[in-house]
Amino acid sequence: MRRVPIDLVIFDCDGVLVDSEVISCRAHAKVLTRHGYPITEAQVLKRFLGVSDREARQIVETEIGRELPEDIEAQIKQETLRSYDGDLKAIAHVGDAIAAISLPKCVASSGTPEKIRRGLCCAGLYEQFAPHIFSAADVKRGKPAPDLFLFAAEQMKAVPERCLVIEDSAPGITGARAAGMTVLGFFGGSHCSGEHEAMLRAAGASWTFADMRQLPALVEQLGQKPGSVAGFPAL
Ligand SMILES: [Mg+2]
Repeated sequence: MRRVPIDLVIFDCDGVLVDSEVISCRAHAKVLTRHGYPITEAQVLKRFLGVSDREARQIVETEIGRELPEDIEAQIKQETLRSYDGDLKAIAHVGDAIAAISLPKCVASSGTPEKIRRGLCCAGLYEQFAPHIFSAADVKRGKPAPDLFLFAAEQMKAVPERCLVIEDSAPGITGARAAGMTVLGFFGGSHCSGEHEAMLRAAGASWTFADMRQLPALVEQLGQKPGSVAGFPAL
């Protein structure tokens, strides 16, 4: 892959800005199990990481052959947000990394607008992005479809080919690549196992990293000519 000038950096929220996936998986497992779909936190992580609640609901309903309660997303959200106030933290060093990137930035997340706002507020990151925060609720199809990334680029007046996406999930990377964007895969969240990096690469991440202190330099290097930065391999 050739390097391209970057005009916009699009951040996923859960697992990239806020260390929320462990909390979220626990809430999903608890509520889905309560409604007759027994599943563990680890299984939720493996099957639904990066998938919007709407898409996850469709998958489960197809499998069990019946509809889940109308308000199941609300129940999961309530269970998740209950833990946010006490347990949620920003991904380590992400606030400084965001501040060090001078390019326009926005958030594109599978979460609902309320969940994104609560998460970013709890982590002290809301002011760094507002009002440039986009959710699956803004588009017809959530990740892994490219719609949300294309919508975010359009709103920010950026060309998709000149957008860089920071993602921690396979559906997110698939969606960003389908939108024609370059993706950096992040595997520093507390939900990431030893296999996470390989999964991000297999999904199409151009580069992977686990420490947000590396991000400003990676963004800068991506926009430079090949070979201009020693030690940064060709993408
Ligand atoms: Mg994520």
